[in-house]
Parts: sequence; structure tokens; C-alpha cells
Amino acid sequence: MRLTPEQSAEIDAQQGARAETRRPTVPALEELLFRPLPVLDHGFVRVIDYMGDDAAIVQAARVSYGRGTRKVSEDAGLIRYLMRHRHTTPFEMCEIKYHVKLPIFVARQWIRHRTANVNEYSARYSILDREFYIPAPDHLAAQSTANRQGRGEVLDGEEAARVLDLLRQDAGRCHDHYVEMLNEDAAGAPRDPARRGLARELARMNLTLNTYTQWYWKIDLYNLLHFLSLRADAHAQYEIRVFAEAMLQTVKAWVPTAFQAFLDYRLGAVTLSAGMLAVVRRMLAGERVEQSASGLSKREWAELTAAFGHYG
Ligand SMILES: Cc1cc2nc3c(=O)[nH]c(=O)nc-3n(C[C@H](O)[C@H](O)[C@H](O)COP(=O)(O)OP(=O)(O)OC[C@H]3O[C@@H](n4cnc5c(N)ncnc54)[C@H](O)[C@@H]3O)c2cc1C
Repeated sequence: MRLTPEQSAEIDAQQGARAETRRPTVPALEELLFRPLPVLDHGFVRVIDYMGDDAAIVQAARVSYGRGTRKVSEDAGLIRYLMRHRHTTPFEMCEIKYHVKLPIFVARQWIRHRTANVNEYSARYSILDREFYIPAPDHLAAQSTANRQGRGEVLDGEEAARVLDLLRQDAGRCHDHYVEMLNEDAAGAPRDPARRGLARELARMNLTLNTYTQWYWKIDLYNLLHFLSLRADAHAQYEIRVFAEAMLQTVKAWVPTAFQAFLDYRLGAVTLSAGMLAVVRRMLAGERVEQSASGLSKREWAELTAAFGHYG
């Protein structure tokens, strides 16, 4: 991740600034505020602003006038109860705003989450930097044979070198042609005075999907946790999962009690179907159950045994 000296200075200035407020603030998140958490080779996530804290969840749940005088353990118990029983609206009272720099193909997955407010860097208005995501060699994997939506063994030797070479060359060439079509230098002057240059909104169609884009992304805590439960999950593609993992750090700093409840009752929990539950009950009663007599499909059986560890 590279920041220009100007960008670093702006972040330092924001970090150094102080503003008086009557609203509650969270010291651990204040520490992280504005600082980019590096993700992938050029990406980052940084918290720009937030509203609310663990106490705001409790306050909303109780519809109270003030911050309340109950014990911390009672508040934690309430938050955990709300999370466990999917009483979700109190979590919507907290909001957070991120600035994210991410490859376009990751942004296409991310944008499917419709409950956030998004404002993306305009490539109609501005010129996209020559920055592409090139996977680290240990993430350059072959297509999975078991899962059509996943990856398998890491490529090695000549094949890995060739793939990296192609990715770099193709992205670089497409960006070079983008710049050539725009016919603008860094200061906005024509590179070739004899040409008019293609409009930015058209020239961008030549860029590869590993080109980095940026956006501001604002969401409430309930919907953020939904996003994280899907994207910090092992089934999510690595390239979006690493962004979700960086965001988990920010949630931990912001609302530590809600975060722990989320780990316990969502991210680290499993859902059992009625059929799975019936099988677990039979096993607990001492019966030896095989997949063929379980009433579960092979895939459901595999999910059940994966959740409970090897059975046999
Ligand atoms: C591992 C994985 C694989 C995926 N594979 C594919 C794929 O192959 N193809 C593909 O197209 N997508 C795929 N997706 C995207 C997926 O189908 C969802 O679009 C995405 O995860 C957003 O989920 P969401 O709709 O719950 O989230 P959000 O848009 O954030 O919505 C949050 C919740 O709000 C509610 N909501 C929001 N908008 C509406 C609405 N208009 N109507 C009703 N309820 C609404 C729903 O309850 C929803 O769960 C994949 C996602 C994952 C995590």
C-alpha cells in the first residue's frame, strides 16, 4: 500500500485534530480513526467516522433517556441476548463510515450488499492510477476440483511465473493504452497536441478488473455484521475476506461487547437444519448413524461432520 506524502500528511492532520463533542466516543476506535489498515498489495480500509458504541445498543433496546446506570455485566448480558435472539434493530443505531481502496473485481462482489451508502471514485471525472492487484505467489491457486466456486492447490514453478507475468503484462498494457487514448499527462495537458483524446468515461472500459478503485462506504452495525458474517467466512473469496478481516479489527475496537457476541453467536456458530438436529439427537442417544440412514444428503452430511469434527 502506497500513500503519497500529501495523503499521509492529510491523515496525520486529521489524526492530530481534536473536536469537542457531547456525543460518546470510543477511545480504541479513535486511535484507529483515519489510519489505513493495509489489505492486499495496494488496498486499504480506514475508518472515517462512526456514531454510537456498545452503550448505544443498550440505550436503544431499553429506549432509555440517558446512558443508564446498570452494571457493565448487565449491559453485556443484554447485548448477547439481543444477538442470540436476533433482536436486530438496536444494532442499527450504530453507524460507521469507511474509506476502502480495492480491486474492481472485489468491488463487484462487495457492491452486492445493498444496505450500505456508497460513493465511488469517479473514473468519468478522474484518471485511475496505474495500480493493479497481483496475487502473492501463495494465493495463486488452481481451480478447485471439489468446489466450482473455489480454488485448490497453489500453482508452482514455471506455471506460476507465467501467470504472474501475464497478469502484469496485460494489466500494464491495458493501462498504457488507457493513458494513450486519454492523451493527457499528469498535469492534464495533452501528451500529443495533434490528438483530442478519448473521454475518460469511455477510455476506462479498457482497464482490467484487477485495477484498484476506491469508495466511501457507510453502513449500520447490524448490516455490517451481516456483511462480515458472509465475507469473513471461509467460503468467501480470499481477496474480499482479507478486507472483512481488517474490518473485524475495527468492530472489535468500536463495540467490543457486540463484537464478542457476534463471534459467539454468528461468525463462530453453525446453523443446524431440522434433519441435522434429528441426527445429532440420535447420536447423543448412543445410536451409530451412517449418512445413508441419516436422511441427509451427502453434502449436508459433510457439512454436519465438518461442524462437529470427524465422525467415525
Ligand atoms: C460465498 C458467496 C458466494 C456467492 N456467489 C454468488 C453468485 O454466484 N452469483 C451471484 O449473483 N451472487 C453471489 N453471491 C452474492 C449473494 O447472493 C448476495 O447477493 C450477497 O452476499 C449479498 O447478500 P444480501 O443480499 O444478504 O446482503 P445485503 O444486500 O447487504 O442485504 C442485507 C439483507 O437485507 C435484506 N434485503 C436487502 N435488499 C433487499 C431486497 N431488495 N429485497 C429483500 N430483502 C432485501 C435481505 O434480508 C438481506 O439479507 C455470493 C455471496 C457469497 C457470500
